[in-house]
Amino acid sequence: MIQVEHLSKKYGDLEVLKDVSVHIKKGEIISVIGPSGTGKSTFLRCLNLLETPSGGKIVIDGESLLDKGTDVPRIRRKMGMVFQSFNLYSHLTVLDNLTIGPVTLLKKKQAEADRKAMELLKMVGLAEKAYNFPDELSGGQQQRIAIARCLAMDPGILLFDEPTSALDPTMVSEVLAVIRRLARDGMTMIIVTHEMEFARNISTRVFYMDEGVIYEEGTPEQIFDHPRREKTRAFIQRVRSLQYAINSPLYDLYRLQGEIVLFCEKHVISPKISNRLQIIAEETLQLQSDFTDILLQLSYSEKEDSLLMQCTAAGTPVNPLEQEDNEIRVTMLKALCESVEYSYNEGKNLLLLRVRR
Ligand code: ADP
Ligand code: MG
Repeated sequence: MIQVEHLSKKYGDLEVLKDVSVHIKKGEIISVIGPSGTGKSTFLRCLNLLETPSGGKIVIDGESLLDKGTDVPRIRRKMGMVFQSFNLYSHLTVLDNLTIGPVTLLKKKQAEADRKAMELLKMVGLAEKAYNFPDELSGGQQQRIAIARCLAMDPGILLFDEPTSALDPTMVSEVLAVIRRLARDGMTMIIVTHEMEFARNISTRVFYMDEGVIYEEGTPEQIFDHPRREKTRAFIQRVRSLQYAINSPLYDLYRLQGEIVLFCEKHVISPKISNRLQIIAEETLQLQSDFTDILLQLSYSEKEDSLLMQCTAAGTPVNPLEQEDNEIRVTMLKALCESVEYSYNEGKNLLLLRVRR
C-alpha cells in the first residue's frame, strides 16, 4: 500500500532524512519511536507531502506521488494526519469541523456529511458535543474530534504525530482507546509516539528512528525485548527506566515520590512495592554527602521481574555503607533489598540496590 524508496530530505545543509526505504501493507499498524530531532515528524510530513522530499520515491496504492502530473491533492486525501496540537477550526462547531472537508473538497451533500459526522462522533464517544465549539472541550476530547475529522474524509491511511504528547496525563488513555478501536477495525496507521506500552500492544511493526534513518525495525517483541543494535538497546533501556537528577540537598522529595508512583503504575508494580521504593530512594539519598551531581535511576525488568535502584554520585570516593552515622539507615536498606553494593568508578560513587519483591 505504501512504498518508500530512498527517501531523503534536506533543509539547506542539514540532512534530516537519509535514505529511508520501507514497505507498508494494508492493515499494518506501524509505531515510529526514537529520540527527538531524529526526523520522525519529517518522515510523516514527507509521506503526505506537507514537506517536499529532496529525493527518493513514494508510491501509494501503485501511484507515484512525486511524478509530475500526479494529482497530489487527491492522493493526499487518502492520508489523514493527526497532529500533536489538534488544529481544529475554533470558529466552527464540532459538527461543522467534521463536515467542512467532505462538503467543500469531496462535494458531499450537507445532509449526507452531517449523518456521517454524527456516526463518527458516536464512534469517538462525543456525539453529545456536536454543537459545542472546540474551546469548550478538554484536550482529550478535542483530539478525539480531530481524529473523527480525519475519518470524515474517508482516508485509507491515518498518520499520527505524537497524538497524546500535548495532553494532560489523565486524558491520554481516552485518545489511545480511540486509536485502538481503529486498529481493531483494520485501519492502516503510522503512529509516531512516546507511549511505549501502547506501541508495544498495538503495533504490527515498530520502526526505531535515529539520526534520519530507520535504524532498526521489527515486531514489538523484537524491538522492545530483543533489540539487536546498540542505539536501539540504549534507547529502550532509557525509556524503560526512571531517571531523576539531583544537584542540591534541598531536592524536591515529593516530586521524586510522585515520579516513582507514576513509574510503578506504568509498569503495574504494586502499591506496596511502590511505597518500598519511595522509602529506599529517600534513605539512599540520606546516605549521600555530596549533592553536586546525583542521578537516581530505577529500572524494571519485566522478564526477570526485578527492580534495580542505582544512585550515582560524582565526587571523591566515599563508601556510605561504611560510615558509622549511617548504620541504622544501612541496616534498614539491607532489610528492604536483596543486595546493596557500593563501587567507585571514573569519579562516580555508585550504590546498586536490588529491591526485594
Ligand atoms: P522528530 O519529529 O523526530 O523530533 P523532526 O522531524 O521534527 O524530528 O526534525 C528533525 C530535524 O529537522 C531537527 O533537527 C529539526 O530541527 C529539523 N527541522 C525540522 N523541520 C525543519 C524546517 N522546516 N527547517 C529546518 N530544519 C527543520
Ligand atoms: Mg516530532
